[in-house]
Amino acid sequence: MKRMPTQGRVFRRGEPGFDAAVLGTTYTVRDPGRRPDILVQANDVYDVIAALGQAQRNAMRVGICSGGHSWAQNHIRDGGMMLDLSRLNSIAIHPAQRKAVIGPGCWAGELNAALAKHQLFFPTAHAFTVGMGGFLLQGGFGWSSRSLGMGCQNVIGIDVVLADGSLVHASETEHPELFWSARGAGPGFFGVVVRFHLQLHRRPRFIGLKTQVFRIQHLERVLEWADSVGPQVSNQVEFQIVMNPKALLINAHGLEVIAPVMADSWQEARAHVDFITRSPVRKLASLHLPLVPMSLDFMMKTGEKTLFLANTRWSADNMWMDDPIAPLLPAIRKIADTQPPHPSHALWLNWNPPASRPDMAFSVESRTYLALYCGLGQGVDESTHANWATDHMRALEPWSRGIQLADENLGRRPARFVSDANMARLDQARAKYDPHGRFHPWMGRLPAAAASGQGAEPVPRKCA
Ligand SMILES: Cc1cc2nc3c(=O)[nH]c(=O)nc-3n(C[C@H](O)[C@H](O)[C@H](O)COP(=O)(O)OP(=O)(O)OC[C@H]3O[C@@H](n4cnc5c(N)ncnc54)[C@H](O)[C@@H]3O)c2cc1C
Repeated sequence: MKRMPTQGRVFRRGEPGFDAAVLGTTYTVRDPGRRPDILVQANDVYDVIAALGQAQRNAMRVGICSGGHSWAQNHIRDGGMMLDLSRLNSIAIHPAQRKAVIGPGCWAGELNAALAKHQLFFPTAHAFTVGMGGFLLQGGFGWSSRSLGMGCQNVIGIDVVLADGSLVHASETEHPELFWSARGAGPGFFGVVVRFHLQLHRRPRFIGLKTQVFRIQHLERVLEWADSVGPQVSNQVEFQIVMNPKALLINAHGLEVIAPVMADSWQEARAHVDFITRSPVRKLASLHLPLVPMSLDFMMKTGEKTLFLANTRWSADNMWMDDPIAPLLPAIRKIADTQPPHPSHALWLNWNPPASRPDMAFSVESRTYLALYCGLGQGVDESTHANWATDHMRALEPWSRGIQLADENLGRRPARFVSDANMARLDQARAKYDPHGRFHPWMGRLPAAAASGQGAEPVPRKCA
């Protein structure tokens, strides 16, 4: 994915370049078949305000895109306007205050690189080109989020263009309901965030990676061990297992135990990952690497070059789970047995969240996270694999505590993504801030909420 150096312009459906401009916004190269009537590539906040005025006059629904990394391509909807904010990618850092103000189109890797120059840190997304706009709105499981909190917890204010075209600032004290909603509503947020105000942190002195690789036949033994030690793992460690058809260095179907760790020293980091070094399954490992210092920049770029390949037809699905892993192992074995080719992969993540978080829309998380990413390259048969992620997650639904919007698949498998109380509160805030249904809501919701009237989508109306 490359930055668009061009000046933004407006494309209407049917004009030369329209399709390419719409599809050029999305990370996954699958064509969803949906098209807006008009695409507005905003160059600045004034363009956003003008676009909202136009949408209002013409009773158009609006879809919003910052970095375009929604696996579900949430921003590409049928009809109405698509607003592309990728050019709003400024980064202003205020080192003395440990604060930054960024545009929504700024990439995770760009922010990280800018902060590294000041020895500062923010829990950005793990891959370089993920847009900070969508990442921060959906919650944001970022680097070091187990200790620093979700990305959205580190947002202290937002500048938002509302459905009526007005520009407001929202924080704990100004438009608090709008601010509360922006920290977790994700692809159903009802305003255009044009700037995020961020709280920064001191950069850890040591950043490194511990890795072990196992062949797939050890799946059950490795997951049972990981599940049992997970709750005791330091929150300085992102302990995860990637099921990869082309696992690192063995180049065969296997499990990569990957543990990025951040600490004040190499010794401290080594102590944090000692549970891997001395694990009872270590003797089964095909590859055991020592803890290696590694820059985040390198990890972010390498992740995209090896796992999250561009020019790939991606689809994803996920779930939070609370129960011990033993009863799930047969279903996870089936995931392995049916796994599409590389770069498709499955992620098991040790989460174990803190006992409490600030009051915000983000409210569903659990002990472990399981996500499936189906990535089909050119020439790989879509019909065989297209439902891999959705079908296996459906089979695991009895164990689900809900989903994370980061890897949402709501259009195909509606699931719970905030608590019921927060869903009701989001509906109230939407009714207040977007009474005419200018902005597209989530692509799917659970029928229970819809049946109670909460899920009904307002029909866009013309305003006076
Ligand atoms: C390769 C890859 C790696 C990823 N890694 C992580 C990770 O480490 N952690 C994690 O939590 N997630 C991760 N994700 C998921 C990612 O954070 C979400 O898909 C997020 O929505 C992407 O943000 P974006 O701006 O790029 O996406 P977009 O597709 O532009 O935005 C997604 C949706 O958010 C809303 N939105 C976006 N910008 C705005 C705005 N300015 N105002 C109002 N609404 C807006 C729109 O409804 C839009 O459809 C990853 C995704 C990919 C593809």
